Amino acid sequence: MEYQKLIACHECDLLLRKPSSVRGRRASCSRCGASLPALPGAGLPLDWICAVTLAALVTFCIAQSFPVIELRANGMTSEATLFGAVRSLWSGNMRVVAGMVFCSSILFPLIELLALLYLLVPLCTGKRPPRFDATLRVVQFVRPWGMVEVLMLGVLVTIVKMVSMAEVIPGPGLFALGALTIMLCVVALFDPRGLWAFCDEIGSSRNGGARWSRASPGHGRFAKTLRARGSGSSAAITAQRAGLIGCHACGLVQTRSECHAQRRCARCQHVLHERRPESLTRTISLLLAAALAYIPANLLPIMHASTLGRAEDDTILGGVAYFWSSGDWPLAVVVFVASVLVPMLKLVALTLLAATVRRGSGWAARERAGLYRLVERIGRWSMLDVFVVALTVTLVHFGSFAVITAGPAALAFGAVVILTMLASHQFDPRLIWDNAGQRIRSNDIALAASSVTAHRKS
Ligand SMILES: [Zn+2]
Ligand SMILES: [Zn+2]
Repeated sequence: MEYQKLIACHECDLLLRKPSSVRGRRASCSRCGASLPALPGAGLPLDWICAVTLAALVTFCIAQSFPVIELRANGMTSEATLFGAVRSLWSGNMRVVAGMVFCSSILFPLIELLALLYLLVPLCTGKRPPRFDATLRVVQFVRPWGMVEVLMLGVLVTIVKMVSMAEVIPGPGLFALGALTIMLCVVALFDPRGLWAFCDEIGSSRNGGARWSRASPGHGRFAKTLRARGSGSSAAITAQRAGLIGCHACGLVQTRSECHAQRRCARCQHVLHERRPESLTRTISLLLAAALAYIPANLLPIMHASTLGRAEDDTILGGVAYFWSSGDWPLAVVVFVASVLVPMLKLVALTLLAATVRRGSGWAARERAGLYRLVERIGRWSMLDVFVVALTVTLVHFGSFAVITAGPAALAFGAVVILTMLASHQFDPRLIWDNAGQRIRSNDIALAASSVTAHRKS
């Protein structure tokens, strides 16, 4: 069917025709620049990804089992494992922060690796695993919340911080964590959305394509709508204008009449919506909550230090000033950017996006779409300070000599990170384009479809 050869860009809703061959290339939308779901033949082969995922799972177990850092001071030794960091926060009455660290550094990366292996091993042998849909949706859900690379940077920052106070010995867990970070970067290059199309190919080769080739009552109306809207109009043809809906989870384009009564995707059962319901209201509410939490995050102490009976409180900005004045300016810049600048940039950028969409502005849509993608990418790096606090609290507990505990700002800061990430997830970038009045060079679906841009994979 005609519409099953189409892709609806998940960021601007533009309808594009799937390129016939994308081997070694990746496709992006010509209007907003978003990367499109991987198509069969694009990216690394499945057996490569499967091998890297298996290696990453083994390395993950090593990184969890051995200490990441050891600290020696005044004849005493302490060590930090990742699970130990969670336990220290939990026992120090920072249970919410402990939950955040546990989920982002242990639970979600583990679920992603196990679920990917569960999917990839049978798929490599040409079989579709049971509960394929639900498992793939789990991978898509947990992926943005796994933050091993941020944890790795947090470990490095902690090491530099501790070097001036005590003897720091890197543990076997640190090398495993470094290797795991690299492997997870390779796994992250793999777009799980491509597995839906791959699985369809397996299904259609078995049943002659019967699953997706049934006639649809909406098809005739769809073709007529496109012809009517294509002639004499130079506006971009979006899925919404054509009476179609693109599934956000699997990318399948389907007519409204094809959806089940509950508006669920015919392929993956994910809830379908032309535009995310109450997107602006939810985004603005979450932004307000994040802005409120940002104030105590910067004003209250993030760590309490007690050295030989002398108590001292550290705020985030106080820590940055200390590093700067003691000559560790690269560290001061890293902490300032990740802990102060990135959350502020996220708040300002999302407020700007929400305000322009609310006003129905068509101003600089492509640039605003790029800003949204930037916010999505950098959001996770603000967790840096939470990881540094978790590791420092675990390492520095030398009885009456020196003890560091987490302060209330750690909770407020973690809340800012989670709330801004939720706000960017709730924002529907397609709203940017609805009032943009953008024109594409073509005025019918055939030309619009040919405007998929293919890039050499870099
Ligand atoms: Zn687009
Ligand atoms: Zn779907």
